[in-house]
Amino acid sequence: MNRLVIHSPADGSLVGEIPITPVEAIEGVVQQAHAAYLEWREVPLRERAEAMRRLRRLIAHERHRIAELVAREQGKPAIEAMIVELFPPIDMATYLIYEGVRLLAPRRVRSRNPFMADRHCTYYFHPYGVWAVIAPWNYPFTLPVVQMLALVFAGNAVVLKPSPLTPHVGALIGELFEKAGLPKGLVQVAQGGAPQGSALIQHPLVRGVIFTGSVPIGRKVAEQAGALGKKVILELGGKDPAIVLHDADLERTARGIAWSAMVNAGQTCASVERVYVERAVYEPFLEALRAELAKIRVGHPLQSDVDMGPVIAPFQRDRVQAHVEDACAKGGRVLYGGRVLSELGELYYAPTLIADANETMLGMQEETFGPLVMAQPVADVEEAIQRANASAFGLTASLWTRDRARAHALAPKLECASVSVNSHLVAYGDSYGTWGGFKDSGVGRTHGEFGLYEMVQVQYVSEVYSGKPELWWYPYSERLRRITDWMMAFLAEPSWRVGKQTMQRLTPELRYLTRHFSPTRTMPLFLRYLR
Ligand code: NAD
Repeated sequence: MNRLVIHSPADGSLVGEIPITPVEAIEGVVQQAHAAYLEWREVPLRERAEAMRRLRRLIAHERHRIAELVAREQGKPAIEAMIVELFPPIDMATYLIYEGVRLLAPRRVRSRNPFMADRHCTYYFHPYGVWAVIAPWNYPFTLPVVQMLALVFAGNAVVLKPSPLTPHVGALIGELFEKAGLPKGLVQVAQGGAPQGSALIQHPLVRGVIFTGSVPIGRKVAEQAGALGKKVILELGGKDPAIVLHDADLERTARGIAWSAMVNAGQTCASVERVYVERAVYEPFLEALRAELAKIRVGHPLQSDVDMGPVIAPFQRDRVQAHVEDACAKGGRVLYGGRVLSELGELYYAPTLIADANETMLGMQEETFGPLVMAQPVADVEEAIQRANASAFGLTASLWTRDRARAHALAPKLECASVSVNSHLVAYGDSYGTWGGFKDSGVGRTHGEFGLYEMVQVQYVSEVYSGKPELWWYPYSERLRRITDWMMAFLAEPSWRVGKQTMQRLTPELRYLTRHFSPTRTMPLFLRYLR
């Protein structure tokens, strides 16, 4: 098979066919990307920021085409695609336009080390070269594009390998970058699955990999890339908890959790899958959440009055069904849904709420990745935090409470990379934030400055022009041994008393020391230790 033939999960209609990139063609793709990178890395940051402006404009202009294609190929409602697939890349381009130049411009380093006093030190931020961006199907536009914008701004080239389930969205991404006036071949798309992904990772000119997908494949990718000494960022699965405290605004909380659990038919790495509710409000919360789920209009993703579309494929539906059946067998109560809406089609699954969940259920341990949310009562917030953290995953979490001080104190106790209070999933939409995972949910970050610095290699340049030999150069001597010893004693206890004693000891050596350092520059640094 040399083509990917895609049928819409919404109605089975043909979306189109796309040729698979032959593995032998990867060589040429990467070579071309590398040649473009050599040109692009010389382009000043301000001009790269202008390219981000052009890409922002292109994405916004093409919004209807992108949203409709995502709806047809992947199945989320077009309006939802507009919100969750288009705003984050537009926000990332904006972030890079306003903050990128400052963050990646060469920066002066000011050391505290007295021996570094005579020099001028600078950090430079260099691109790595060609990156492979290996993407999943659930957010086929926003996930790779947010990553690619930052990679390209940082001076890198990118070969995107979209999921074989959403190749048309991948091709459209390639087209948008091609129109942005970047060097030819800087951003390219290789279509296919594991063989193409693997060939990219193994190519010697591919220096970095951003993989977004499942934990087992992520580990395989990391193994391959690690064995070749390449930079890897992994954005993996989740099993996000929401904690509902007794003082939460139940109506708003139920509405928020309904959206955060069901957006994209629950096929979101950071969707709410586990809800821990303080017992005092457990039953009223369940009733409020059930009522919210009942309002969700499931249907064809191209209809404007639809909130939720189908799941992507039978394997996804079957996984949800298996988790529902497992929960029922272990004492779970289905309060809403729990079945395929076959009147709509075989891939439409009802928004589902299971109460009285416990940790033995598959749906409380493994990623479900579908329209299923499970709730468990807890005695207090300590139990909720302990249960929320008792997971191999650590992507995001949320706390729902009116008590600002309490939320502020509790948020850092959650073992995950971002916490929302009285909202969920919002972290992805803020390019000033950070995105990634603790534990099995990932390695490295995207978004914000921590994400941008993952995409560059930091270089430190130290310059000295005093003409004096460094103190530590040959020949070693008894005098150098004494000076080193006094400095060590001072550093072990940099108090005024020891400082004074060290100065007294060093005074007879001043002539010798000034052969190596300028005292006017070294003294202030020495004194800084005393603060
Ligand atoms: P997947 O792991 O099956 O595939 C992801 C990508 O890897 C695809 O492009 C696939 O073709 C490619 N691939 C498969 N085998 C490969 C190999 N051996 N070498 C190189 N590439 C290979 O994931 P999926 O089913 O497409 O996506 C769903 C998963 O992604 C879920 O677990 C979800 O939680 C996760 N996800 C995480 C985030 C995040 O930001 N942390 C975001 C979205 C999705």
